[in-house]
Amino acid sequence: MRTPICKECAFAEKLCAQCSKKLADGEITSLDVEISKILYKINENYNISSSDFLKAYELEGIVIIESSTPGFLIGKRGKIISLISSALQKKVRIIRPSQNIKEKISDIVAPIKLIGINTYFKEGKEMAKVILEKKPGQNLYVEEQKLKKILTKWLKRDTEIIYQ
Ligand SMILES: [Zn+2]
Repeated sequence: MRTPICKECAFAEKLCAQCSKKLADGEITSLDVEISKILYKINENYNISSSDFLKAYELEGIVIIESSTPGFLIGKRGKIISLISSALQKKVRIIRPSQNIKEKISDIVAPIKLIGINTYFKEGKEMAKVILEKKPGQNLYVEEQKLKKILTKWLKRDTEIIYQ
């Protein structure tokens, strides 16, 4: 398993010199430390050794975890993500560390499918329209109002969500 802190630190009370320095330098955050510890703990009962956890941040009360192996951190039927979520007492989303905004948005709205992102102008202002596929029985994991705020941040313009 790859996490922002070393394995020894995941089980220790205090961080080692190297990991402390990373934290002090702002290279990692206390949220990264907390989640690393949670993942090592989960790994004792569920094998997520092949997973990697790159970084985490919180947006609109939702913890967003970047991982290049999202499948492992989500787990079968969402088992692992629900363990992370209950350990943090927060909603969690796992996304790929992508520079591609479409990929990022696809991951945050999953399992709902992203159909497209359109740009349009409203009173001379550039706006974004995120089009999602609405299937019966599928619900957004994130409240729509919060998702809208996150998308507005990521797309750097006012964003509207519509279903098709
Ligand atoms: Zn360490």
